[in-house]
Amino acid sequence: MSVLIKGGRIITATDDYVGDIFIEGEKIISIGKQLNVNADTVIDAKDKLVFPGGIDPHVHLEMPFMGTFSSDTYETGTRAALYGGTTMVIDFILQKQGHSLNEALTEWRSRADNNCVGDYSFHMAVTDYNDETKKEIKHIVDEGITSFKTFMAYKGALMITDNQMIGLMEEVKEQGGLVNVHATNGDVIDYLVQKFKDEGKTAPIYHYLSQPEITEAEASSRFADMANYTGCPAYIVHLTCEGALNAVRNATRRNQRVFVETCIQYLVLDASLYENDFEGAKWVMSPPLREKKDAATLWAGINQGLVNVVATDHCPFMWEQKLLGRNDFSKIPNGHPAIENRMELLYSEGVAKGKISLNKFVEVACTNPAKIFGMFPQKGTVAIGSDADIVIFDPNAKHKISASSHHMNVDYSAYEGWELTGKVNTVLLRGKIVIDNNKCLVEKGYGKFIKRKRHALNNSFTS
Ligand SMILES: [Zn+2]
Repeated sequence: MSVLIKGGRIITATDDYVGDIFIEGEKIISIGKQLNVNADTVIDAKDKLVFPGGIDPHVHLEMPFMGTFSSDTYETGTRAALYGGTTMVIDFILQKQGHSLNEALTEWRSRADNNCVGDYSFHMAVTDYNDETKKEIKHIVDEGITSFKTFMAYKGALMITDNQMIGLMEEVKEQGGLVNVHATNGDVIDYLVQKFKDEGKTAPIYHYLSQPEITEAEASSRFADMANYTGCPAYIVHLTCEGALNAVRNATRRNQRVFVETCIQYLVLDASLYENDFEGAKWVMSPPLREKKDAATLWAGINQGLVNVVATDHCPFMWEQKLLGRNDFSKIPNGHPAIENRMELLYSEGVAKGKISLNKFVEVACTNPAKIFGMFPQKGTVAIGSDADIVIFDPNAKHKISASSHHMNVDYSAYEGWELTGKVNTVLLRGKIVIDNNKCLVEKGYGKFIKRKRHALNNSFTS
């Protein structure tokens, strides 16, 4: 099976030119001007952008939650991702406290394997670090899961202490991995949540008010200090605000590198949405949406090279599930749906509005996730020998986001009615046309588990 993509404007993190791409099997075989080859399928990409498939390194599909699950399954979530130009996702395995990493790995892979439409991998969330867990790190890395997530909040369920954090960092560094963190001060948040509840304040806006900027800034700084001390490659997930980014900026002053991910919602939405009574529950997530000045900081941070990745933290819940917190903001399931919207929102709000360049768009949505998480150049770029994960994109098409037309398994949209410029036309995943003209052409099971390489801070990441 061969495919020729003709005359598109090919965009990578560094390039921008018009050319043809010839694909055989799962790989890109050649790229050139007017390639003289025969192919089984020819796609005319004139006047279209052609860029690498997006990688969303922060999603929660079928995540166990209070006896139920986040509403997108591995099938519906990865399919919706493909519709939006994201060909690969990295989900999170959550270790149960008192249980092993291996047990969690088996449980999560049994849910995901043979059920994904798009490609996938996992981060391993370490919620209970002890001598037994330490012995498992090498095995998990050998399985191709080379990043370890930690929580500085959610005491008694997910949070680890600084004592455990330092130990984990030393072992992960030794094994060639990377530590990710949810950086917020859990003790301060727990205090504020209780205080508001004692005062009878139950509306969603108190979710926002119980996680002030300082909780994130303090923890980001503490995490950076521990990473600096241990020398472990470090990555802050869903960074939302000026204070936290300044903690990272300060770390650069002692020649430290901390990778930073933000999520699309923190760039395009703000905390005024919490003022609408219970409707604000649609955007209850942790950390919460912030102020307009924080979004401005994040856009600037992307251009300054401080913010490396734009993900989603996709964790959808049906409205009925959100209603669990009708009378108590702390019981609203955290998360919002965005896996399908990330690329088009970032293009429309970022590139089309002149906030970031096309190359930057590809860098933060495709290339950096592949580099940081050990998949480059197999994934994340359009190059000879890379997987043929390709998006053909109409930069001028206008369309509207709506729950009535999206493909995520959730009954509301966090961006209902938004008019976007730029739309995904065709998506290829490992050489196969998977989306064309708003139709998905593959079934669950097509998505493959991608084994990731060890992190190579000093030789593979060069942006
Ligand atoms: Zn998350």
